Amino acid sequence: MRVYLNHAATAGTRLQSVSDAIQAFLSENRAQSVGRGGDDIEALRAVYEARKTLAGFFRAPDPAHVVFTSGATESMNMAIHGLIRDGCHVLMSSLEHNAAARTLHLLERQGRISVSAIPADRNGCFDPQDIKACIRPNTRLLVMTHASNVLGNILPIAESFAVAKGYGVLTLLDAAQTAGHIETALSGDIDAIAFTGHKGLRGVAGSGGLILNRGVEKQMAVWKAGGTGSRSESLEMPDFLPDMMEPGTPNLLGIAGLRAAVEGIEAAGLNAIRAHERRLSAMFAEGLRQLPAKVYGRYEPQSWTPVVSMNAPGFDAGELAHRLLTEYGIETRSGLHCAPLAHQAIGTYPYGTLRFSFGADNTMEEAAYALKALEETLTLR
Ligand code: PMP
Repeated sequence: MRVYLNHAATAGTRLQSVSDAIQAFLSENRAQSVGRGGDDIEALRAVYEARKTLAGFFRAPDPAHVVFTSGATESMNMAIHGLIRDGCHVLMSSLEHNAAARTLHLLERQGRISVSAIPADRNGCFDPQDIKACIRPNTRLLVMTHASNVLGNILPIAESFAVAKGYGVLTLLDAAQTAGHIETALSGDIDAIAFTGHKGLRGVAGSGGLILNRGVEKQMAVWKAGGTGSRSESLEMPDFLPDMMEPGTPNLLGIAGLRAAVEGIEAAGLNAIRAHERRLSAMFAEGLRQLPAKVYGRYEPQSWTPVVSMNAPGFDAGELAHRLLTEYGIETRSGLHCAPLAHQAIGTYPYGTLRFSFGADNTMEEAAYALKALEETLTLR
């Protein structure tokens, strides 16, 4: 038996409609670029249709406010570099992935910004009201992951971003772990949402985007420059979306896949997906409580994505992951999950945790099988 429980890293399977859309794009479109001449009208239309679908999914104010990128990492870089100004202060949560933390650290090391993290307790929790004490006169941006990729807990985004907005601070949401699992609609307090295509959305690697709220583009400095096929007489980047943020030839196949992936989620219903994934992770977390294991965070199905992180006394997380894979065919992920700050917060740095992450295509039988495998491994040494 092969059981894939590493969906927080990348989706285990894709819908047939995603491969079909990519295949159809390859065979039907001679032009594999847009706005660069040639017979590209169909490709242009495909990108526009994808933008419309994604704008609906994230409730962007306009399809042009969907900027396609190579994934959440590029989106986070684009948003952070675009929104900061030299000398400003950026606040982030203590659970940030390196897509945010390293990008901010690099800018700090270059002497351009200062960075601080909102203190969290050993469960990775904090009170949004504590953000007030972290705001400085020059705080310009609050960066927050929607859910921790280590613990799975959903952060109090609405309350936190409302506090930030009260101080005129810009807000950036990293939805890499939530898009496709829970609602990720843009709201008045969110200025930008970074997402990736290959995780919960179940599109392909190398696709993703940045959703910009109305007017935010006026605050964004261009981070990446190049040809757009528009306003080519000028050496300045165009000042309108999406061109100002999308230089170079886009990942047309990834974009075609993204559209099909989101249509698949809409057909299945995000609520149904969420309910199923919640049942899986709740049953798994409940089962873990009966085992000699420590589950990290204050697990509550209502405020969790389908991610469970644990350790067992006397076992190294890497050794456990290896045994589950080789003896039971169960794929998990051990270590720091590119989020060292989160492990520092919960006290598992530098060893990390063993992470089980479920997806829409997992079954209750698979979750039960993983529990049984873990029980045997932990108790029958
Ligand atoms: N942010 C978070 C919270 C993530 O979990 C990840 C992927 N592990 C990323 C950003 C980066 O996503 P990508 O590699 O698709 O750019």
